[in-house]
Amino acid sequence: LEVTGAPIFSENKKWKGIVLVFHDISELKQLEQMRKDFVANVSHELKTPITSIRGFSETLLDGAMKDEAMLEQFLQIILKESGRLQSLIQDLLELSKLEQDDFHLNIENIGMQRLLHDLIPIVQQQADNKGIRLNTTLEEDPFVQGDSSRLKQVFMNLLTNAVNYTPEGGEVAIELEELEDHVKVSVKDNGVGIPEEEISRIFERFYRVDKARSRNSGGTGLGLAIVKHIIEGHHGRIYVESEVDNGTVFHVEIPKEFTQN
Ligand code: ADP
Repeated sequence: LEVTGAPIFSENKKWKGIVLVFHDISELKQLEQMRKDFVANVSHELKTPITSIRGFSETLLDGAMKDEAMLEQFLQIILKESGRLQSLIQDLLELSKLEQDDFHLNIENIGMQRLLHDLIPIVQQQADNKGIRLNTTLEEDPFVQGDSSRLKQVFMNLLTNAVNYTPEGGEVAIELEELEDHVKVSVKDNGVGIPEEEISRIFERFYRVDKARSRNSGGTGLGLAIVKHIIEGHHGRIYVESEVDNGTVFHVEIPKEFTQN
């Protein structure tokens, strides 16, 4: 709370009282803190792969290159870490685009069944690699007005997360349902789940329940922040049900008709 005060005098210069202005700066302070945290997080996330890329290149140049097995192993690490940098930069650019006020959505009529079907081959591959069953019975075929490449991005993110946070032998399912004035898509898994007290935070930039697990599966910690922006851009909503060790469901509701701001 910031307080500024000033005395008030009447016309004959007699003191009448004091005006006090109470200015609630807690929100401003919070925003400023969030900005600082964000910059610190970005720097840290960039630094880790770069340190590793430099370290392994130097070791190779110092002579490790002569050992063929080591050469191969180190190059694989360098490739993986530069891939991580690339995803991170891509997600950062994406997020900054979505946060612009004049951010544009390409609105068209979209058949939701088709949109989701288009994603299945890629997700199926990810699921197969991990021995996860993918269940996609999409019976209804509702239409919505929306940006199809953005919406694909949303469901791709949710499905990839579902596979990433589900152990081998698990199951991921996608369901599509037509409601009165919106369409609901649910992405379910029977994976690790999210502790109740952390559910409200997972949409924050770089917030991860388990940092090591997220990094190992190639996560940037920005996926859900991007998802939330896109859904809100469509005036829809996203909410989560989850239980630790039992699994998670992400529900996305998108209005059938798009309304401009
Ligand atoms: P990440 O790149 O780390 O996956 P996201 O923004 O996509 O970043 O997700 C943020 C965090 O939310 C993840 O690190 C993970 O802890 C949690 N999370 C997201 N989806 C799931 C899920 N299906 N099951 C369990 N935890 C999840």
